[in-house]
Amino acid sequence: MNHERSRTLYDRALSVIPGGVNSSVRAIQPYPFFVQRGDGAHVIDADGNRYVDYVMGYGPLLLGHSLPEPVQAAIQSTASDGPMYGAPTEIEVDLAEFVTRNVPSVEMVRFVNSGTEATVSAIRLARGYTGREKIVVISSGYHGAQPSTLVEGDADDPTPSTPGIPESFTQHTLPVPFNDEERLRAVLSEHGDDVAAVITEPILGNTGIVAPTDDYHQTLRELCDGIGALLIFDEVITGFRVGGLQCAQGKLGVMPDITTFGKIVGGGFPVGAIGGRTEIIEQFTPSGDVFQSGTFSGHPVTMAAGLATLEFVAENDVYDHVNALGGQLRSGIRDILADRAPEYTVVGTDSMFKTVFTRADSPVQAGDCTDGCRQDRSCPRFSECPKSGADVRRGETDRWERLFWPAMKDQGVFLTPNQFESQFVSYAHTEADIEDTLEAYKAFFE
Ligand SMILES: *Cc1c(COP(=O)(O)O)cnc(C)c1O
Repeated sequence: MNHERSRTLYDRALSVIPGGVNSSVRAIQPYPFFVQRGDGAHVIDADGNRYVDYVMGYGPLLLGHSLPEPVQAAIQSTASDGPMYGAPTEIEVDLAEFVTRNVPSVEMVRFVNSGTEATVSAIRLARGYTGREKIVVISSGYHGAQPSTLVEGDADDPTPSTPGIPESFTQHTLPVPFNDEERLRAVLSEHGDDVAAVITEPILGNTGIVAPTDDYHQTLRELCDGIGALLIFDEVITGFRVGGLQCAQGKLGVMPDITTFGKIVGGGFPVGAIGGRTEIIEQFTPSGDVFQSGTFSGHPVTMAAGLATLEFVAENDVYDHVNALGGQLRSGIRDILADRAPEYTVVGTDSMFKTVFTRADSPVQAGDCTDGCRQDRSCPRFSECPKSGADVRRGETDRWERLFWPAMKDQGVFLTPNQFESQFVSYAHTEADIEDTLEAYKAFFE
């Protein structure tokens, strides 16, 4: 595979863009391929190489790269009317109505421009609404590039996870491990009256994909109610991906107080949103006192792309298609690993999939979990499968990055470059793509 042009572009980029990229995860070693264009489920790079794409923009592209005609038409006609106005447009109302009609806990929604902006605003809203300051976050959960959640360590000794965040900020953030009910109870009982909200992804989507064990989220819901704290579901990845149009909260049967969205709801354009009960969301200015504002918020082209995408999804067999192919990938990978790397864990649900390169001295074969780890206590492998972000981080992360990812890339399969981020099936993927992909897995694990 020739990458001469990508190499030259990266060389130029390194002089003018830090690390040569505009989002850190793209800085694949030794240099990333630059994309020329998309084509259905594929991307073609600057040197003309073609890959079946499971990165899919890190989640937004539910329909793949070639948008269906009505979606393209909506985007183009909205853009040609004029890019944006600083005054409301009808399409914002249409998209807000669509979201509130479909997502169980959402009665009202405010649109912003990124998932990060959504979680920043949601946390400010929770603090403003409750009059409390502390936020409980899940260690290794991801809520974007923001100071309230870029905190690591234990709730007794939280520290910034990046330079640039004052130590003093972290006293307002209490990290707890995912799926650890005991620790959660302890932290909430110690800090109860000071906790404004618990923020969690319904499943960890940026650290290996980790599903909740037992009734983790129901317990979380009850514990929040017990101390008068809000429950924030960060559905930036799972929204309109897991559980279909009702999102992960519908699938799990748990009603959060606030939900953050991003990715799919903008149909491939920059977006975020904060939704929830009217009584809470109305605390945002101008109806309430919690300041919230944005030049580009509710951008007409984004709204048109998001609405046309979701309407297309509602009228076609999109979820059946992507979830079925997701299942074929998960069970196909599991079968390939069964003899070759039984210590590895196939994870994911709906159209999300990943393989965690778990370590084990004498691995136990997977049980009936042919469709990705379900955290089933009766599975013989239950105790070996990752329950938290820390469990994922203990895996063979270098093997993924240095050996597995490059080998898959050389076979024309574009996966997420490290062990942590999820991969996605789109409506454009076909059974033939899945078969090719499984052949590539087979070749690597031979
Ligand atoms: C992607 C993501 C974010 C951040 O969204 P951006 O649009 O990248 O700012 C926040 N939370 C979760 C769960 C995400 O997956």
